[in-house]
Amino acid sequence: MTSLLHSVFKSEPMEEFDNEENAYEPMEFFYYYYPASEAAVEQLVTNIIGEGNEARNAECSICLKTLGNAEVTEMPCNHEYHSICLRDWLSTRNTCPICRHVLPVD
Ligand SMILES: [Zn+2]
Ligand SMILES: [Zn+2]
Repeated sequence: MTSLLHSVFKSEPMEEFDNEENAYEPMEFFYYYYPASEAAVEQLVTNIIGEGNEARNAECSICLKTLGNAEVTEMPCNHEYHSICLRDWLSTRNTCPICRHVLPVD
């Protein structure tokens, strides 16, 4: 009877390849889109740029409009954005849009 066992043909089922690919994608998604810690966002410095300040002519790299007289928030890497734009941005990811400075996550 042992001769029967030895003759069993072993093959790799195709399903295994599909499962491996599907398991890989969600991990990549979470790696690129992890929101910044709320506590870290609270600690960012927020300023109002007044009349005559040259910084008001700088561009917000998120919405591509000038900072103007709007409320502006500064990242630890010294890059400035509209407070609204930056909060929206950091609610889905934890890096600076310009230099990819990393903020802590929860
Ligand atoms: Zn903006
Ligand atoms: Zn930066």
